[in-house]
Amino acid sequence: MAQEIEQSTDLAAELDAFLARHGDELIEFRRDLHAHPELANAEHRTTRRVALRLAAAGLRPVILPKGTGLLVVIGTLDEQDAYTDRPVVALRADLDALPMADEKDVPYRSTVPDACHACGHDVHTTVLLGTGLYLAQQAAAGSLPGRVRLVFQPAEEAASGALDVLAAGGLASVGRIFALHCDPRLDAGQLGVRSGPITAACDRIQVRVSGPGGHTARPHLTVDLVYALGKIITEVPAALSRRVDPRSSLSLVWGRVSAGTVANAIPDSGIVEGTVRCLDDEAWHRVPDLLKDLIDSVASGYGLTTEFTYQRSVPPTINDQGSVAMLSAAALDVLGAGSVVQTPQSLGGEDFAWYLESIPGALARLGTRVPGSTVSLDIHQPTFDVDERAIGVGVKAMVATAINALWDDGAIVAQPLPGVTGA
Ligand SMILES: [Zn+2]
Ligand SMILES: [Zn+2]
Repeated sequence: MAQEIEQSTDLAAELDAFLARHGDELIEFRRDLHAHPELANAEHRTTRRVALRLAAAGLRPVILPKGTGLLVVIGTLDEQDAYTDRPVVALRADLDALPMADEKDVPYRSTVPDACHACGHDVHTTVLLGTGLYLAQQAAAGSLPGRVRLVFQPAEEAASGALDVLAAGGLASVGRIFALHCDPRLDAGQLGVRSGPITAACDRIQVRVSGPGGHTARPHLTVDLVYALGKIITEVPAALSRRVDPRSSLSLVWGRVSAGTVANAIPDSGIVEGTVRCLDDEAWHRVPDLLKDLIDSVASGYGLTTEFTYQRSVPPTINDQGSVAMLSAAALDVLGAGSVVQTPQSLGGEDFAWYLESIPGALARLGTRVPGSTVSLDIHQPTFDVDERAIGVGVKAMVATAINALWDDGAIVAQPLPGVTGA
């Protein structure tokens, strides 16, 4: 125990020394990405810049098959690799910007019309780059206790980049994965953590209904489509809330309805659309079939024909308790008391959730608010910006978390740790 404490004290000091040397470079790197944002699946320049910097540090990045996004393993040795039987720890950042104008007045403002790093992915990318540079030094010195894979993922905002990483085998041999996401409601210097659901599923549902149509004087001779559509609108959400565990926070809310053109004619078609949000993974998997049954049962009572479309987005992000504990302990060690706080659940979506469908891991919030600031910013706003001290905080937290997870997960392998002979 005493040895562990000594180790983390050393780590904090080493990280401070590393950031004293590389902090300015990282801020420059982030500002360059910020000035040159690229939308989902078009992150070519960003991918190249990250790959070149990693290669300059002696690493061998691999670009993903579609040409944007990259993976790099740190701590690979050779066929004699002491760690081949051990799970790899993955750290993930996302590369893409949002299709909106940058309305800030700063020197690093976006130079691309209608593209802006308003979700902080430039910060995530820079944090992961800095983390990689530090870990590469450790690996070269023979003091990294395992392998770490950096996942620079494209297209988070399109909710598809994580699936591309998975399809490319990006999580092969990975035992645990971690990520940070900017949070302007937390001060720079703080991390927000939560076990269990931290972001929600948000899917889209569309119901098209049809019938013969007719005169409003004779609803019994046709299908009273508007009335029946109203029944679907009110009864399906009500029935849903009685068929699913209330703790899953499942909600179906309609956002659009349309039917008919005139007061005295029953229309022959109509449409209603809405979103389904959910914090529970099991309920999320069940909900499409359940909704179809409920809609069909209401519609059949009125002779209505329905066509149901359910558009999946991302699952809820369910943080693993053990991973959250590793991340929290590691961050506390290197950032100090008061740096780790509980964060509330968000009903926003995050495609990091796809990774956690198959392996344990955790997403934490990286505070980006200038301490003491009364300006309330939010992500996805055209004026979103960060306190850049968050970059160093993120590097410290990611490095410490990776090392902590390597030690913890390594300990479950029933073989002695072989000496590392160098890369
Ligand atoms: Zn976003
Ligand atoms: Zn984001």
